[in-house]
Amino acid sequence: MVERVIDWLEKNLSNCRLCPLSCGVDRHHRPGTCGVGVRPKLSSVILHFGEEPPISGETGAGTVFFSGCNMRCIYCQNMNFSQKGLGIEVSTQELAEFFLDLQQSGAKTLNLVTPAPNVAFIVKALFIARERGFNLPVVYNTSSYEDVETLRRLEGIVDIYLADLRYADDETGRKYSKVPNYFSVASKALVEMHRQVGPFDEKRMKGLIVRHLVLPNDVAKSQRVLDFIYFCLSPSVPVSIMSQYNPVFGAQTDPVIGRRIKKNEYERVIDYALKLGLNGWMQTDEKKRVTVRPVSSTYKIIEKMRSRAVKELLPNQ
Ligand code: SF4
Repeated sequence: MVERVIDWLEKNLSNCRLCPLSCGVDRHHRPGTCGVGVRPKLSSVILHFGEEPPISGETGAGTVFFSGCNMRCIYCQNMNFSQKGLGIEVSTQELAEFFLDLQQSGAKTLNLVTPAPNVAFIVKALFIARERGFNLPVVYNTSSYEDVETLRRLEGIVDIYLADLRYADDETGRKYSKVPNYFSVASKALVEMHRQVGPFDEKRMKGLIVRHLVLPNDVAKSQRVLDFIYFCLSPSVPVSIMSQYNPVFGAQTDPVIGRRIKKNEYERVIDYALKLGLNGWMQTDEKKRVTVRPVSSTYKIIEKMRSRAVKELLPNQ
C-alpha cells in the first residue's frame, strides 16, 4: 500500500503536479516553482519547544524545517530558505536517519514543516525509518496550500495535520502570498484533512489543528477564518491563534501590514473564537502558547446560519 503511494509520488516528479501550482516541471532536470528538485532540501533539524503544547510536549517536537515553498509570502520569516534557495540537499536515506535520530533524542512527535514540495521524499523516508522501528506521531505542518489528490495519498501515513488557514479569501492571498487561489484551495484541503483524521485528540495523538496568524487591520479576515473552522469543519477542531506577526522583508514598507498587530486586534479575534465556542491555544505576551477554552457559548448556532455559512465559504460543495 505505502509502496504504491511512493510509486505514485515519485512518478509525479517527472511532470510535477503534487501541489496546487501544478507547474508540470520535470524535477529531474530542474527544480519546480517551489525551488525543490529530486532530493530533499533542508534548512534545519531541531528539537522545537515552541509548538502547541501537545505537539512539543516536555521533550520537544522533532522538527525538520524543509527548504522551498509553493507560496511567496512577502512577510515570510524564513525567506532565505523558503524562497531564496538556501538549504542543504540530502538523500532520502539520510532524511530517514534524521527521523530516527530525532526519535532517539526523545522527541515527542516528528514535525515536518513546509512538507508539500518534499512530500515524495518524506513518505519514502518514513517507510525506511519505520522498517527500523520509527514510531513517532507524524505531524504535517502545512500552509494548507495543498493539492487534494496528493493529500488523499497521505491517509494513514500522517497522524496530525497542523495546518494554517492564513486568509479567508483569494484576493488577500494574491496580494500577500503571491498565489492565485489561496482560500479556494486551502478550504478544500482542510476539508480533506478533517475527513482523514477528524479533530485533534491528544489521547490518540491524531487529528487536525488549525493555526491562524492574526495580521494587522483585519487583513486576514480572522473572524471569517474562525467561521470557516466552526461551520465548515467542526466546532471540535482546536484552533491555535498566533500573535507573532512581524513585518519583515517586503512587508516592512507595506502601508497596511507594515506594523505588528495591536493587543486589541489579537484580543478581538480570541474573543470571537471564545464566543463561537472554539477550543485551542492563544499566545501570551511572552509568545508562549496557552490553552483557551470558552467559558460559555454565547453564540446560538442555528442550522440556517450554518448552511448559509457553508454555502458562502464552500460554494462548490
Ligand atoms: S511541488 Fe514544486 S514542482 Fe511540484 S507542482 Fe508544486 S511548485 Fe511545482
